[in-house]
Formats: sequence, structure tokens, C-alpha cells
Amino acid sequence: MLKKSNYLKFSLKMATNFKINIIGGGVIGCIQAIELKKLGHDVAIYEKNTIGSGSSMCGAGILFPLLPNNYSTEVFDLINKSKKYYSELSEILNSQFDIDIEYLRSGMTVILDDLRDIELWLRENKLSFSTEKFRSFNAITIDDVYQINPKKLIQGLQKYLDYLGVEILENNFISTDLKNNFFDINGRKISGDKFILASGAWTQELDNDLRDKIFPVRGQLIEYKKTNYIQLEHILYKDGFYLLQRKNGTLIAGSTLENVGFDDNLTDQDLRFLKKNAEKIIPELSELEVINHWCGFRPGSKDNIPTIVQDKKIKEKFYNVGHYRYGISMAPASVSKLISLF
Ligand SMILES: Cc1cc2nc3c(=O)[nH]c(=O)nc-3n(C[C@H](O)[C@H](O)[C@H](O)COP(=O)(O)OP(=O)(O)OC[C@H]3O[C@@H](n4cnc5c(N)ncnc54)[C@H](O)[C@@H]3O)c2cc1C
Repeated sequence: MLKKSNYLKFSLKMATNFKINIIGGGVIGCIQAIELKKLGHDVAIYEKNTIGSGSSMCGAGILFPLLPNNYSTEVFDLINKSKKYYSELSEILNSQFDIDIEYLRSGMTVILDDLRDIELWLRENKLSFSTEKFRSFNAITIDDVYQINPKKLIQGLQKYLDYLGVEILENNFISTDLKNNFFDINGRKISGDKFILASGAWTQELDNDLRDKIFPVRGQLIEYKKTNYIQLEHILYKDGFYLLQRKNGTLIAGSTLENVGFDDNLTDQDLRFLKKNAEKIIPELSELEVINHWCGFRPGSKDNIPTIVQDKKIKEKFYNVGHYRYGISMAPASVSKLISLF
């Protein structure tokens, strides 16, 4: 019988081995690399900063759409098909690398005056829920909603990539020319059989044709200090804002949706805005210190639908970009979809 660690390395070998270059080391690029390496390909990730330093480490880590009835079936399908992967990945990262990604079935309570549309959607999709008030608010709790800690996820993915022997080239900005060649930070042309753009909100810098299709949408989050007197039973959502609790007890609140390009200047006014919205859900938060305030740039796309395609003209070029608000949730199924195009 194979030892579990060997089983991790090799799932199903492909007949042909390709040299595959992935541009971007976010959650999409990392999971893409892991799954391709397990298939026996020779894989490298080029990352202009450090692994996870784009949108992926900034996220809240909710593995479900906030108001699921507002999204197309395409988005929900990718999220749904990714679910099993995270439960398995969580076990692997725990047992092999001692990393707890805080994968938790937290459930999500949606506070809304009119619950009819979401209730209908949940019934149609056969998802279990209950309608109990949250404090004085009308609310519905969706049971099968999970959360993870994105920073821990990135740590775990990095260990897994190292273990598999994926080549990781950090601080390596990739550029391209009109002939669709790719060059590393030293201007050297990169050779390979396939190139996968997993470059998130920055994809437009590599492909001008995608300028209007994939665009940065800034999101801000704050983290309240750990407290013993607020224990969230579920993720909470109200009026575009959510609150969730990390395993260590700190509370994450957000987020904003801002079209400000790549501006990462955060102000006291921004902080007050986030606090005000969080404290509308749980007023006692006003007593707590905010210990962190940060932002990230989501790879925005129309209707939150990612672009997972082979280039029409350049057959060796592929795209796995534009996952907008749910890139962590959709990553595993997006990666499988891309591999099916080979
Ligand atoms: C505040 C906030 C909250 C969020 N909450 C959630 C959530 O709860 N659940 C959820 O599912 N999603 C959430 N998201 C969205 C999620 O983070 C993104 O959809 C996801 O991280 C996108 O992953 P990615 O790998 O495509 O992009 P990124 O993580 O941005 O990775 C792209 C990488 O490509 C690199 N790169 C770009 N261009 C080049 C180049 N030329 N050369 C080399 N490297 C390059 C970048 O440096 C970057 O590291 C949230 C996002 C934000 C900002």
C-alpha cells in the first residue's frame, strides 16, 4: 500500500509531460501548480512579489457567496464543486505539514428584511437552513457554509508546493511582448509548452485585451481584538457587510467594494466607515480595539464569472483569472476546469 505522503504526490500521471509556467502565485496559481505537478508535469510559478501577496492573503475566507441568489449558476457550481477539495486539503495540510487552515463549518446568518428570494433559492438548491431572528433582525441561517483562514491557507499551499518540488520564482515580474513571448525579471525569454496566466487583478498589464474584462476592485477589512464576551455562532451578513470570527477569537469585519484602481492608501475615514457598519450588526464591537486594517485588490469581472480559457490564437496560452469576490471559494473547481482544456 502507498504511504499517504506518496499518495499525495502522484495521483494520475499523464501520458505527456509538459513544461508549464504559471504567472501569479495567488490561490489560483498555487492550486493550479499543485494539481498539475501531481499529474506529472514540470511546473514553475513566477510571482512578482511573494506567494499569496496579491488578493489571496487579504480575503476573509468565506467559502460561499454572500447572497447566493444574486449570482449565476456558473458561480455557484464552481463554489459547490470546490467544497470537497478544501475538506481534503485541510486534512492533508494538518497531517503532513502541521498547518491548520481553520476549515470550519460555521454556517452563515443572512440578515434581511425580506427573506423570500433567498429562501426560495435555498429550497430550489436543496440547501438546509433555518429562519430564526438574529437579535431583533429578520434572518436566515444557511447551515452548509464553511470558512478558512486565507493566510494559513497560503502557508499550507507553500509547504505543499515545496514538498512536491514545484519551482517557485518570487520577486520575478513577468512581461510580455507583441509576439506573446514571456520574459522574466532579467529579460530572459521563458521557455515552456504552456503558459497559464493566474495574475489576478494585474492581468491587464499582461494582456491589454482583458483591460475591460478584468479590473481591480479594492476591498478593505478590519480585525477586532480577541474577546471572550463575543462568540459568533455563525458568519453574519447584513447590508453588504459581514463579520466572522477566527479560531484565535479575533473578529474580521468587511468589506468594501471600491473602484479606485490600485490605490492602497487607507484613511481614518475608511476605518470609521468599516467600524460603523460592523457595529450596526453587533453594537458591543464599539468597545473593542481594532488591531488591523488592510486592503486587497480583487480581480473584478462581470457577474463574478471567471475567465478560464485557452487563448484563441496562441494555443499554449491559458487564462485562469477574474474570480472577483470568490476566488478562494472557486479555486479548486476553476483549476480542474482549466486542466480539462489541455
Ligand atoms: C477584502 C477581500 C475579501 C475577500 N474575501 C473573500 C472570501 O471571503 N472568499 C473568497 O472566496 N474570496 C474572497 N476574496 C477574493 C479572493 O481573495 C480573490 O478572488 C482571489 O484571491 C483571487 O486569486 P488569484 O490567485 O486569481 O489572484 P491573486 O491572489 O491576486 O494572485 C495573483 C498574483 O499574480 C501576481 N502577478 C500579477 N502579475 C504578475 C506578473 N506580471 N508577473 C508575476 N506575478 C504577477 C500578483 O503579484 C499576485 O500575487 C476577497 C478579496 C478581498 C480583497
